[in-house]
Amino acid sequence: MAEGEKTLNAKELSMKWKELSDLGPELLRYLAEQVPKIYCLGPEPQLTQEEEQAGALLLQPLEWYLFGEDPGTGLEKLQQSSTSSQLCGRVFKEGETTYSCRDCAIDPTCVLCMDCFQNSVHRNHRYKMHSSSGGGFCDCGDLEAWKTGPSCTTHEQGAAGDMETGAECVLEAGLRERAQKLFRVLLRYTVDMLVWEERFELPSELQPSANEDAYYCVLYNDEHHSYDHVIYTLQRSVHCNQREAHTHTALIDKEGRRAVKRGPLQACREAKELIRSNSEHISLQPLRVEILHSHVMAHQSFALRLGNWFQQIINYSVGFRQVFCQVMLEPRSLVDSHSLVGSLMLYDAKLYKGARKIVHELIVCSLLMETEYKRLFAIEFAKHYKQLQIDFINDDHEHSISITALSVQIFTVPTLARQLIEEGNVLKVIIDTLMEMLSEHLDNNNRFHFQGYNSDKFFRIQVVFHDLKYILISKPAVWTRKLRQQFLEGLQMFLRMLSCMQGMEEVKRQFGQHIEVEPEWEAGFSIQIQLRHILSMFQDWCSADEEVLLQAFKESHAALRQCTNQTFHSEATDSYMCKHILHSRPYKVSQEPVSIHLPISRLLAGLYVHLCRTGAIERLREYIDTSCDFSLLMEYPLRCVVLAAQVSAEMWRRNGLSLVSQVYYYQDVKCRDEMFDKDVIMLQIAASKLDPNSFLMIILQRFELFDVFNGNITCKDQDLVKQWNRLTEEMLHLLIIVTGERYIPGISHVLKEDMTMREVIHLLCIEPMAHSSLVKALPENENNETGLENVIHKVATFKKPGVSGHGLYEVKKECLKEFNPFFYHYSKSQHSKAEDAQKKRRNQEINDKALPPPVPPAFSPDFAKIVQLLCCDIFVYVLRTVLQRAVEDRATLWNEAMIQRALHLIAQALIEEKQQLETCSEEEVAFDFSLKAKKNGSEHGKSLLHLLGRLKGLPPLEAQKDMIKWNLQMFEIVKCLREKSSPSSSTSVDHAKPEESVQDKEKAERKRKAEAAKLHRQKIMAQMSAMQKNFIETHKMLYESTPESTGQGGPSETLESSSAMILGESRVAVGPKRGVTLAEREVLTCILCQEEQEVQARGPAMVLTACVQRSAVLTQCRGKALPNTETFVPLYMSPDLAVGTHTGSCGHVMHALCWQKYFEAVQNTTRNRLHAELIFDLENAEYLCPLCKSLCNTVIPIIPLETLKLNYENAELVGQLLTLPRWIQIILARIKGLGSATQGDEKSSDIDSSFSVENPADFRSILSFGVQAPTRYSDSINEMLVVCATTVYRVGLKVAPNEIDPRVPLMTWNTCAFTIQAIDNMLEEEGKPLFGSLQNRQHAGLKALVQFAAAQRLKSPQAVIQKHFTGLFAALIPNMKIEGTPCILDVDLFHLLVGLVLAIPALYQEEAVDLQPSPVSSSCNHLYILHLITMAHVVQIVLSSDDPPGMMGEDAGEEDQAASELYQAMIRCTEGLRGDLPGWCVAERVNKGVLPFLRCTALFFSCLTGVAPPEELSSTAVSPEGQMEALCSYLALPRNLFQLFQDYKETVPPLLQRWCGDPAVSQALKQEASVIQYPRKRNRLIELPEDYSCLLNQACHFRCPKSSDEDKKHPTLCLFCGAMLCSQSPCCQEEVDGEEVGACTAHAATCGAGVGMFLRIRECEVVLMASKTRGSTYPAPYLDDYGETDPQLGRGNPLHLSPERYKKLHQLWQQHCIMEEIARSLEVVSVMFAFEWQML
Ligand SMILES: [Zn+2]
Ligand SMILES: [Zn+2]
Ligand SMILES: [Zn+2]
Ligand SMILES: [Zn+2]
Ligand SMILES: [Zn+2]
Ligand SMILES: [Zn+2]
Ligand SMILES: [Zn+2]
Repeated sequence: MAEGEKTLNAKELSMKWKELSDLGPELLRYLAEQVPKIYCLGPEPQLTQEEEQAGALLLQPLEWYLFGEDPGTGLEKLQQSSTSSQLCGRVFKEGETTYSCRDCAIDPTCVLCMDCFQNSVHRNHRYKMHSSSGGGFCDCGDLEAWKTGPSCTTHEQGAAGDMETGAECVLEAGLRERAQKLFRVLLRYTVDMLVWEERFELPSELQPSANEDAYYCVLYNDEHHSYDHVIYTLQRSVHCNQREAHTHTALIDKEGRRAVKRGPLQACREAKELIRSNSEHISLQPLRVEILHSHVMAHQSFALRLGNWFQQIINYSVGFRQVFCQVMLEPRSLVDSHSLVGSLMLYDAKLYKGARKIVHELIVCSLLMETEYKRLFAIEFAKHYKQLQIDFINDDHEHSISITALSVQIFTVPTLARQLIEEGNVLKVIIDTLMEMLSEHLDNNNRFHFQGYNSDKFFRIQVVFHDLKYILISKPAVWTRKLRQQFLEGLQMFLRMLSCMQGMEEVKRQFGQHIEVEPEWEAGFSIQIQLRHILSMFQDWCSADEEVLLQAFKESHAALRQCTNQTFHSEATDSYMCKHILHSRPYKVSQEPVSIHLPISRLLAGLYVHLCRTGAIERLREYIDTSCDFSLLMEYPLRCVVLAAQVSAEMWRRNGLSLVSQVYYYQDVKCRDEMFDKDVIMLQIAASKLDPNSFLMIILQRFELFDVFNGNITCKDQDLVKQWNRLTEEMLHLLIIVTGERYIPGISHVLKEDMTMREVIHLLCIEPMAHSSLVKALPENENNETGLENVIHKVATFKKPGVSGHGLYEVKKECLKEFNPFFYHYSKSQHSKAEDAQKKRRNQEINDKALPPPVPPAFSPDFAKIVQLLCCDIFVYVLRTVLQRAVEDRATLWNEAMIQRALHLIAQALIEEKQQLETCSEEEVAFDFSLKAKKNGSEHGKSLLHLLGRLKGLPPLEAQKDMIKWNLQMFEIVKCLREKSSPSSSTSVDHAKPEESVQDKEKAERKRKAEAAKLHRQKIMAQMSAMQKNFIETHKMLYESTPESTGQGGPSETLESSSAMILGESRVAVGPKRGVTLAEREVLTCILCQEEQEVQARGPAMVLTACVQRSAVLTQCRGKALPNTETFVPLYMSPDLAVGTHTGSCGHVMHALCWQKYFEAVQNTTRNRLHAELIFDLENAEYLCPLCKSLCNTVIPIIPLETLKLNYENAELVGQLLTLPRWIQIILARIKGLGSATQGDEKSSDIDSSFSVENPADFRSILSFGVQAPTRYSDSINEMLVVCATTVYRVGLKVAPNEIDPRVPLMTWNTCAFTIQAIDNMLEEEGKPLFGSLQNRQHAGLKALVQFAAAQRLKSPQAVIQKHFTGLFAALIPNMKIEGTPCILDVDLFHLLVGLVLAIPALYQEEAVDLQPSPVSSSCNHLYILHLITMAHVVQIVLSSDDPPGMMGEDAGEEDQAASELYQAMIRCTEGLRGDLPGWCVAERVNKGVLPFLRCTALFFSCLTGVAPPEELSSTAVSPEGQMEALCSYLALPRNLFQLFQDYKETVPPLLQRWCGDPAVSQALKQEASVIQYPRKRNRLIELPEDYSCLLNQACHFRCPKSSDEDKKHPTLCLFCGAMLCSQSPCCQEEVDGEEVGACTAHAATCGAGVGMFLRIRECEVVLMASKTRGSTYPAPYLDDYGETDPQLGRGNPLHLSPERYKKLHQLWQQHCIMEEIARSLEVVSVMFAFEWQML
């Protein structure tokens, strides 16, 4: 079909439609005809084909009709005339990051998308980041959502362009009319088809001309069946294979439904039956299957397509959007009065997931984007609210895909909320909905009872609570009559609900036996938690309007009176105490039922405080009879408080855990402000109204202590007495609280901020705390704010965190005077912790442990009467009784806690009296505590004051002595104030006798100074002894390297000569001038058996823990594909160091035997433990170091360093005889000879026949320069040599262990070389000197490793070693043509050096005798090998450097000259070397490039020979030049390395020819092959942005490379190379070694040789991985402003990179500690379930 024809058709059609007066019937006829021809033609939807055809045949004509011309042209015109949207409205996908601004958002539900946030002012505010659960949308541009900065820069223009309604007439009239017509028809069609319930039939207007027998069997998703169930069922029912079943299931889960079979009706029916029976078979409930006619399916598919089309169209223009909204709100049809959108809403719960999503998105981008239509929609929504919620509760889909999730978009808009309350009475509607949902839980008394509730359904009901919270979230600024009326109506409804809670779920104390079934309590508390903010918001609303407040109080009061279930069961009686009489009805909490749920009482208490605060209390008598009985109001709260006290006194032990939990929550931060705190307020209200003596008597009665204090009963039952004591303790505490807790606006004149400040001070008095712990311990308001930030800097100082841990706040000194040990929000343990901490502090500062109460703020007038409690007769009597029991030492009748509280109360009373005396004249002060304390009971010598004095001397109260003293002093002060005379011994300095306190202070000061001096002395002593130790350590060599102490009496007596002495001290490690080995007698302690043992060659082996791992830490080409290790011979190390084998140690030593026993024991026990393999892999012989728990997988035997001294005369002689050419010749002769001797002709073919062996007799001449017998090692050392070498081989090559594989020695040498390189790299990086700065463990490990590598040779056949030597040697020497020998550019020369040095002793092996070179021979071998390789390396460096020459310079010195000569010589041998390089430039490059090699070599030889290095190498102060000099001298190299080429003039030309002439070299020079440059680049972790939201931004734009679906992805960043991976997702799994693994594991296999370090961006967590099965998380190196990390972004504070922490991660990597870290963390966490790390 040609393009033109199609457009013509579309155009023609549209012209035809335009002619019609009624578009509907014709358009529908067209759809009826076309749609079934396009959609649902085969068993599988043909997406691209369908889309193409629908576009051409259906959508194009529609667009032609709409625009009346070519849609492209029309659209262009439209866009010119209209402006873009002023709202962003981006709909969030699940997992997408959203931002909210704590400074500017109206409430926390106002969020921005990433793009808007980045372009908004809020990015510099206190923002929060969160992960969306999907469904919400971006509020950018919504003026009502933000206090400031409502629009980002992108959406700003839109906002300015069309303000409010100005955009109405954006569309030109014709267009508008056509849009109306078209939208009307299409929208109705869409709605009709989506809600269509007939499966086989279509509406009459859509009936096709011909009917065919084609049906679909459609499977719907539900929450009852697992993935596996569905797959199983499908495979059995519709005969699809595993993969198809998988696809079906995934799509059913995602879309909500899927056609699984197409065919004639009969076949579909059969399939349906099969599916039902198969699924029923496995999970009782059958899967939901339906059969749909293919035409019905087709129309439904097109209807959904139209949904997307509408979205696109209305995004073009505000005009379209408005027309669309209009049509949406029109009635659906003549018969159905619901609007179209109403129908969709009501049908929502019946729709499947995919359809819902499209509908919701359509609503969001249309109705919710226009202020006026949003209002209309909101009213419609409110109208259907109840039905929608009921549908949702019965539905089993998640909330985010329910239409009810839109409520947050409507209810949180302040103006809408107000209108909905006023016009739609929505408060009532919501609460009514709640009531209806909860009504099934009502019992006969009209109270809730949740036993046996359905927790899933209950969870869904919470959504309605959220709505209630949303609607209340913004308080009205102006109250209208209507608003008052509707709000109060809502409140009445709310009270009705609360009265169903008041007194619900009563508990009754259990006697004798334990309860059988723990009663249900969580449901009640979860409602309480939901209600918490709602209750406080109702109070806030009320307090904003006096009229409403008073009315609300009246209503609540009335509601409370109607609640009658907790009545008294006995008649009132009279009780007497201290001549006071109480007429009251008894109620025993310990015997009668009590409820912890008293929401109405508490609401009333809250409202009362607001009445007092606002002054409206004055008018209260107009509303209620204020003579109401306050003792009745406080009755229920008091019972609840007593219940808590009795539980704490362990009287309710038999009632089980559920009660303990309830009491816990009652006082916990999550509930207390609307539970415990309000009960306290109610008691305070009563205390302010009742006679103080009566109040106290009621308290005593409810605590069931009245008779105890009245002295009416004596008891022998110890348990009961103990109980009384505990209850007394609790009661006294309650009195402390009622009289002392005044920090609430209304109760005293404090601000909210003061409350928060006080909470924070008390929390910090327990211990310094992190910001997040503080936030958790403070109550949050409805906006999730605690107010912490506003006060924290006033009361605390911040201490920054180190590389681990978190920042802490410490309370400021000046705030400590606010500390009250009986602070009412302290739990028992917090109380004792805080008390201990503060006592300790006071004792240190002023040597006084008294913790008197702080001076409280004065009560506001309405509460002022409470203080009379502190001086009433009963109060004094109670205290007297308590003290008297202690004084009379009736040991069982008191406890210290009681006394402590009594003392606190006395102090409170005295402070009160003092305050009053100070502000008023004595006559005005009625507060007479001190007088009563002196008088009452004085006739028997038992006045309170008297008793207090006697208490002082009591030994059991030693701890309270200071507090008693404080109180006595206070009595003095008050007495003086009363006498109005300036007190003789004490002026009124607060709370303490001034002299004494001055004395105390001086004493304390002296003590402090003495303390400081002592500390200082200790520190100096420590420093001195450390220095001494260092001195001995560094100069040990001086003592021990003198000939006397090395002992052993070498054979040569010439040693004594002075020249030898000098040489003996020489710091040269190589060659005939080699210095003396620093062999010390090594005595080590086994960490297992603690026995000491000297390390000896023939002794039992000592071993060092070790961990061997593959490493890509030094790689120069990350991600390189690695050779197949089964066949690969690792003779040469590639210079890119792509993968090396690292051997590290924690430095702990054991007997080999002890280790073997330990290892076997561990293997046996862990094999039986579940999941222990997570910590260490038994198969890989892993274990944890018994001492430090490092992860290890082998041991290194400790080989004693051989003490050897050269016979320097011999050495000199040999040195003269054995020149380099001669040496090469001898070696070659030996190789050839050995080759033919051992393997005959076959072997000699390796070496070219042109090989110039002049004298075959040279075969044995190598021996003439000195040989000796090789060291013999004990069996156990031999065994350990094999163990270690085999592990290195197995791990390094990832192959099965095989101790006789010829590659074993190669791997030993390689790990030795690689480990040295890694250590050097690390030292260099940290700028530390080469020697002396390694940690002990590193040094011990390195030494042992080198010695082990040297000794391991003896455990292999010498022929194998000889063969390896030959291979290695061939890389350097001309004339040895061995197949596969690489060019020198492709060899790491340090590895080569180590290999050659460690292999060469094997050349001395003779058939009959085991021989090895003598020290003299060795030193020559080392020298020549080193010289040869150094020359090769110099050439390598020159060949590989391709950077352009630096600036100007001249060849000045000898070195430049020599360099230039060498360069010229090289040019002659090579093609492609540039000719213009000056000598100085060459020299510079070489000096720079050669350094790592020299450093590694120095480390190697120092460990091998034990010769002390020059001191310059242990110092950081040395210049680079000096370092070079020292290195060269230590290694017997000329400082000017080019000198070598001149010294060996006759040998050099063939070598150069060999090295430079290789064709591979010229290839590289022509840049046909990549070349490694020297010094190698140092690997670092990738750069991370400072601001974490940048990373989130990256993650937001991340697209999985392998799939295009919109599912939640987990972008994960490789910190080694910066690759962004799609982890935890089936789309990106890969197969590695025949196993499906996740993207990260697959990536780590190549990027880090199995080790990985990733940042999971959405989770803000680092993941460490080692091997396929092991990993751990590690805190990301990002901290918030409070020095804390935020895993999972749970708190969502802005995060910034911490360079120190990132550096620590870098070191973890570079020091090969990742594996160790994982093992450590796994041990700490002790994971209960196996996390599949490999799927990451
Ligand atoms: Zn946005
Ligand atoms: Zn924006
Ligand atoms: Zn802001
Ligand atoms: Zn031992
Ligand atoms: Zn250890
Ligand atoms: Zn990587
Ligand atoms: Zn993917």
